[in-house]
Amino acid sequence: MKYISTRGRVEPLRFKQAVMMGLATDGGLLLPEHIPSISQDTIIRWQDLGYQDLACEIMGLFIDDIPRATIKQLIKRSYATFDTTEITPIINTGKEYILELFHGPTLAFKDIALQFLGNIFSILLEEQHSCMNILGATSGDTGSAAIYGVRGKKNINIFILHPKGRVSPVQALQMTTVPDKNVFNIAVEGTFDDCQNIVKEIFNDLDFKARYRLGSINSINWARILAQIVYYVYATLKLVSTTRAERVNFSVPTGNFGDIFAGFLARRMITPLIDRLILATNENNILTRFVLEGKYSRGGVVPTISPSMDIQVASNFERYLYYLYDQQPEKVRNAMEGFHAGGEIVFSQEERSQIRRDFASTSVNQEETLATIRETYQDSGYVIDPHTAVGVAGARRLKARILEGPVVCLATAHPAKFPDAVRRAIGREPKQPKSMRGLEKKATRCKDMPADTALVKKYIMENAL
Ligand SMILES: *Cc1c(COP(=O)(O)O)cnc(C)c1O
Repeated sequence: MKYISTRGRVEPLRFKQAVMMGLATDGGLLLPEHIPSISQDTIIRWQDLGYQDLACEIMGLFIDDIPRATIKQLIKRSYATFDTTEITPIINTGKEYILELFHGPTLAFKDIALQFLGNIFSILLEEQHSCMNILGATSGDTGSAAIYGVRGKKNINIFILHPKGRVSPVQALQMTTVPDKNVFNIAVEGTFDDCQNIVKEIFNDLDFKARYRLGSINSINWARILAQIVYYVYATLKLVSTTRAERVNFSVPTGNFGDIFAGFLARRMITPLIDRLILATNENNILTRFVLEGKYSRGGVVPTISPSMDIQVASNFERYLYYLYDQQPEKVRNAMEGFHAGGEIVFSQEERSQIRRDFASTSVNQEETLATIRETYQDSGYVIDPHTAVGVAGARRLKARILEGPVVCLATAHPAKFPDAVRRAIGREPKQPKSMRGLEKKATRCKDMPADTALVKKYIMENAL
């Protein structure tokens, strides 16, 4: 399998090169040159596989420059840190199915992809007798998942900036209590935007970037999307065989479009087993406006109780655009360049119909999110987090658009990660899983710093591999 750029100006790459490149060098995003279509026979063969074995089969279709035994080992290592052998269990609440994606070390679905990415980076660097310094900014979930993905790895140091006092106490503790020497937390006196700007400035210093072999772990790496395809296929095959449904639908709480894009690819691979994909957003609803109005235009970011979905532009959107534009990179490039110059992208009537065939969408506000947590709890005793609640509310509201089959709502975070919102909804805090208990008693490691790019650079120079 070769990889190409959505903007068409990168020579086809092998999988390993695509992972190391991250963002395509022409400014686009990398994609496989074709999406494999899975035959009925293969589906029957896959139906009885456990999560890791299925992951190995699926990833094997997209990776042809790493031996199968190594892929297998990578997968085993990546999911050994999960607290259930099922990896992504499915719960039936009576009204809908919940796919629990939060059984990894930081209790959010980002672990599924970032454990895998950390392990791939590590073996590729080993092969090249090289090393890497990862630099990133986080508003909470991604940073901790990235840290857990690479902690203790000899050939990787990781520097994560977070806005001091502006991530939740649990999120801050998850990052700063990691004792491994290769982890460097930086608490910036400023906002998340300040953190992101510092990171951007440092990456734009190409000499510095090359000298310190800076790597990025953000949501545009192809390996992350690949790891996320697996649970869509896994859940679909499981439900098709246990409920005898012919089709399954998914509701996805969406921010950067990474998760639902993996669903889009999964649907293409196992058509017709996946039917509707519901794209649920919070008040930051650029993507819902895109689906309903056929226009992609910026809005301001408002802070919500589902902060991991508080985005202004969706970094993976361009990948979908490539398919919407019939795989014509020129068209993608023009549209994205116009958009980044401050414009908007307006879609034709035909494109709008296609978008609405691909997704149903709705935007869910704070009151409805809280009400959904409450109702779900009252009906079934099951506690969901505010991100998951956005997806559940979306599924309930768009019920009429579901033609047949059950709806699977993706549970993207453990409720204990967002105790304040849960308490507001149901009057008590969720039960803490084992990995969270006693966090506040552990020693922390974190460097406080003013929002000053030069100082962050100096700190990296002193501590880089
Ligand atoms: C990142 C995140 C999301 C959004 O996922 P995208 O791939 O960015 O659309 C939803 N819920 C939680 C808990 C997250 O951490």
